[in-house]
Amino acid sequence: MDRINVTRTSLPAFEEYCAEIRDMWESRWLTNMGERHERLRGKLQDYLEARHVELIANGHLSIELALQAMNLTGEVITTPFTFASTTHAIARCGLTPVFCDITPTDFTMDASKIESLITEKTSAILPVHVYGNVCDVEAVEAVAKRHKLKVIYDAAHSFGVKYKGRGIANFGDASCFSFHATKVFHTIEGGAVTYPDIAFGQHLARLKNFGLDGQEDASEIGGNAKLDEFRAAMGLCNLRHIDEEIAKRKQVAERYRERLESASGIQLNPIQRGVTPNYAYFPAVFDEEVFGAGRDEIQTKLASYDIHARKYFYPLTSEFSCYKDRFDSALTPVAKQVSRRALTLPLYPDLPLDVVDKICDIVLSCRK
Ligand SMILES: *Cc1c(COP(=O)(O)O)cnc(C)c1O
Repeated sequence: MDRINVTRTSLPAFEEYCAEIRDMWESRWLTNMGERHERLRGKLQDYLEARHVELIANGHLSIELALQAMNLTGEVITTPFTFASTTHAIARCGLTPVFCDITPTDFTMDASKIESLITEKTSAILPVHVYGNVCDVEAVEAVAKRHKLKVIYDAAHSFGVKYKGRGIANFGDASCFSFHATKVFHTIEGGAVTYPDIAFGQHLARLKNFGLDGQEDASEIGGNAKLDEFRAAMGLCNLRHIDEEIAKRKQVAERYRERLESASGIQLNPIQRGVTPNYAYFPAVFDEEVFGAGRDEIQTKLASYDIHARKYFYPLTSEFSCYKDRFDSALTPVAKQVSRRALTLPLYPDLPLDVVDKICDIVLSCRK
């Protein structure tokens, strides 16, 4: 059997991509908000049901630029149970991350703990729809409103997710998506910010293009975070197949669930009420005492069959050496425990169901 990774990048047919890029050999317009960029923006606005969309060079810069365009200062309340990018974006903007614990059921920010972390320096809340699980958006909004805080969602995992029939892009002051090759929808590298406020969008558009205003002035110190035409073309192709791809992910996820849900000591990613999921990841949380084997042992066992599950997310971002002595992960005990127990199993649209069965057999064989 070939090596099985935690994910595998989806690609359109080679000819489909070629057809999408061919006329650039005539136009010579390869980047700078070209025709494909605008077409992709429009299609994503529809697909995500977003009020407005700004395409960005990658998911990480989507978060950095969203934070900058909001003119934030001081502290941002966030979660340590995420990919490095979320926390780094806050720190790189000169802001201070303040870590809130997560819930033990869906691993998103525990909204009931936000209020106790608010100080006079707090300017925003940055929760993550981790694994595509929807945050408690109503509770987050209520706290934000009470304390006049901005809300920026890291929506990198939640492309295509809906909550109560509304696209996930509609919550908060901004949602930041990643279109990295490993994500549910991709443009090779890429990202987007969705938002309701037009003035914020104009600010964002300037920041991604050197702060330029027309041809002769830069009204602020922007950078370069443009999405080029080749990547936009990849996005246009991938978007044609996205529903089919998510449907295939669903089959894989359901097979895992059938095989693993009755085993005691394994907690599977929850089925959230009111949520249309995208099946981005299949994390399983192992309680060693009950299951009879710990997360690391299971990962090693799978690796011996060339099956590479990943410890998403371990360690907590607050435990990274670059943040040494700045944060105490004991203050987010649920996140700390989940990070020591969670293993994300391989899941991608073309993962054969017999391989899923084999993975489940290996996992279950670890029980003592
Ligand atoms: C992938 C990811 C990002 C960063 O996106 P890139 O497109 O890789 O820059 C940010 N946050 C989370 C939670 C992610 O998984």
